[in-house]
Amino acid sequence: MAGILVYSDKTALALELLSAAAAIAVREGLEIKAVSINNAAQAGELAARGAETYQISAPGLLVADTAAVAFCLKQAVDKLGADTVLLSSDRRGKELAGRLAQMLDAGCLTDVKGLEAAGGRTGFVRNALGGATVAVQVLKGPRRVLAVSPGAFSPQEPKAGGSIKELEVETKPSGIKLVETREKAADTVDIASARTLVVVGQGLEDKADLPAAEKLAAVLGGEVACSKPVATDKKWLPEERVIGLSGKICKPDLALILGVSGQVQFTVGIREAKTIVSINSDPNAYMNQMADYVLVADLKDALPDLVRALE
Ligand SMILES: Cc1cc2nc3c(=O)[nH]c(=O)nc-3n(C[C@H](O)[C@H](O)[C@H](O)COP(=O)(O)OP(=O)(O)OC[C@H]3O[C@@H](n4cnc5c(N)ncnc54)[C@H](O)[C@@H]3O)c2cc1C
Repeated sequence: MAGILVYSDKTALALELLSAAAAIAVREGLEIKAVSINNAAQAGELAARGAETYQISAPGLLVADTAAVAFCLKQAVDKLGADTVLLSSDRRGKELAGRLAQMLDAGCLTDVKGLEAAGGRTGFVRNALGGATVAVQVLKGPRRVLAVSPGAFSPQEPKAGGSIKELEVETKPSGIKLVETREKAADTVDIASARTLVVVGQGLEDKADLPAAEKLAAVLGGEVACSKPVATDKKWLPEERVIGLSGKICKPDLALILGVSGQVQFTVGIREAKTIVSINSDPNAYMNQMADYVLVADLKDALPDLVRALE
């Protein structure tokens, strides 16, 4: 029977892929198998979620070497009879998706965030035209490689029936030499799971006003996020806090948006918020059209007033 093969080097994402695989399997009657490479703990987690898990032991293989990982996965796909591969649509997963699809001569979609019926086939929901629209796309070839956006599916719940087997594959010497491993100086905040976000845009003209936005977030029990230029151009906040096409997709209960114009590359990351409040000095800002509440005001006045009123 044709099947789905699931792989991510990150266990949390692999568990989400199992849910995505289950949703496809229900529609198409496919078997689900999972692969873990050099990660016994992950194999255990996958099996505990009911997955028929294949453990690949490849000494010396770097998971960052997507060419080497794709070489292993291609063999796993052939040996296990899979015709659909699910990968995570994070940076490494997207690179892997392209490489593996090329090796398998398969169709490939990245940033998949949902499934929909499409003329008797499974359609994959993704942003299109730079986030200006949402498209439902179908891969018609015999093989598919799909990279699924982190957070698009909930992690698979624990389930009986899983198993772990060894899978032998050939490995090639890596062209990449690991020189050093360093902890990423990461922001520990996950804006994608915050229920309240105070989002800073370029309308916050002075960095000295940033603490007021942080205070507002603290008063509301939320987190600070930002538009892309605030992180990449001004470097006021880390890139982990960017909302949008090149940042995170967030679905908070409340998004208080300060001085953001509302270009589509930003709004694609916040349009599923339950309540949006936009504060902008321009009454015609695009952001205001999407907002539930709009305050036309200069942030220089509005921000301190809001902090005073709420604390
Ligand atoms: C391929 C691609 C990917 C991209 N990905 C992203 C992404 O993931 N996330 C993202 O955010 N952007 C992204 N961008 C950039 C995006 O197109 C916009 O340029 C960006 O979102 C604009 O940021 P902003 O709204 O903060 O700034 P601006 O567009 O400069 O808007 C500032 C707003 O603040 C208002 N304002 C100014 N002064 C005040 C004041 N004193 N008080 C109140 N309001 C004031 C203005 O009226 C304006 O509406 C991407 C672009 C490309 C091409």
